[in-house]
Amino acid sequence: MSGSRPRTVVLLSAGTELTEGITQDSHVRFLASELTSLGFRVLRGLQVPDDVELFRAELSRAVEQAGLVIVTGGLGPTSDDLSRELVAEAAGVPLDFHQEAWDAILARFAGRTVASTNRKQAMAPRGFTLLPNANGTAPGFHGPVGGACVVALPGPPSELRPMFSTGVVPVLARLFGTGGVTDVLWGTALMVPESSLEEALRSGAAGLGIQDIRWGTRVDEDRIAFSLRGGTPAGRDALFEALVSTLGQTRVRRGETRPAQLVTEALLERGARLVVAESCTGGLIAKYLTDLSGSSRVFWGGFLSYANEAKETLLGVDRRTLDEHGAVSEPVVIAMSEGARKSSGAEAAVAVSGVAGPEGGTPEKPVGTVWIAVSLKDGGSSAWRFAFSGSRDMVRRRSAVAALLAVEARLRGREFLDTRMKW
Ligand code: ATP
Ligand code: MG
Repeated sequence: MSGSRPRTVVLLSAGTELTEGITQDSHVRFLASELTSLGFRVLRGLQVPDDVELFRAELSRAVEQAGLVIVTGGLGPTSDDLSRELVAEAAGVPLDFHQEAWDAILARFAGRTVASTNRKQAMAPRGFTLLPNANGTAPGFHGPVGGACVVALPGPPSELRPMFSTGVVPVLARLFGTGGVTDVLWGTALMVPESSLEEALRSGAAGLGIQDIRWGTRVDEDRIAFSLRGGTPAGRDALFEALVSTLGQTRVRRGETRPAQLVTEALLERGARLVVAESCTGGLIAKYLTDLSGSSRVFWGGFLSYANEAKETLLGVDRRTLDEHGAVSEPVVIAMSEGARKSSGAEAAVAVSGVAGPEGGTPEKPVGTVWIAVSLKDGGSSAWRFAFSGSRDMVRRRSAVAALLAVEARLRGREFLDTRMKW
């Protein structure tokens, strides 16, 4: 039956806490993005309260319309957890007890007493296949309801996401085929506003006379992941190269990557360690680096030198330099990076000092003015001035991303980007 079902999806997030606005629904966003990249068309994604009538109605509408229906949440042991019963009812089958799932639940509780209500979590609609839960108690399951495949996944994101990637994706490939999924080129755009990326894609495609390639973007806090789908491999490559020539090789990368990943790779290749001296970013650069497991091989640590006094005592920045140029200045940020490098002994250092706002701007240094310096043990120091736009949070995130990419560029002996593009 491979490929015979329509590659359409409805996503149902169960939970009154979602419809009452207590919890924000992150599953629709995650699943919609993953499924779109797998070549599915998402018809809709919605929240249903823990209410039998409403849930039942949405589920039956979904299975009539879509080839795939994913229900999330409501797999727990309590009476407001309705997904198991309602999926079984829609399929017209009873619930079966699965001893191996119960054994897995007991093993997770490791000898502690388990309430008998938990037995419910080892039940699944007859004829359905269980999806093991490596990170929680309730397994998911999938099976046929009418012409649709219904997948039920547990609510906690830490359980749902790995289960989707390791358990559901292979099932989808088997049931729906992989048609179109491999006809894709993944890329990452960095330090680019979404609108500029869109514009560059549009003019690139127009310039090449390409009409059969669709693109999709996913904006994350430190990058935009994008996909080029359809057309020919040569066409996708040509469009990608057009993007690189418009936006520059710092801003456009092949594959899905992240700024911290790029620096980490460059540091590993050079056998260098990085120290950070952060002011307005308040530790965010260190956070991005340590978000990657294995960063201890390249990340020395850092200095959170927020006040001028901290810049003096932690990093040895000269008081007169601070008085004369101000904390947000080229000489200060260079002194910060050199001070951090020398006192740590790391081979590379990056320092950031800026006006994140919303207060503190002046005509000479408006909000968004950020200086970034990189100092290399055998390569000297260089600095860049940025004028970032956006809220305090955005200025800080943009500063952290730019700092990481500046280090990467220096390590690779590459020109960093021109800082004029508004971001
Ligand atoms: P449990 O066994 O933990 O009860 P469950 O499968 O019954 O799991 P829910 O009770 O619906 O799932 O949700 C458990 C928790 O998962 C919620 O409290 C919420 O924090 C989170 N969660 C559920 N659905 C979503 C969602 N759509 N978006 C974000 N978080 C969610
Ligand atoms: Mg629950």
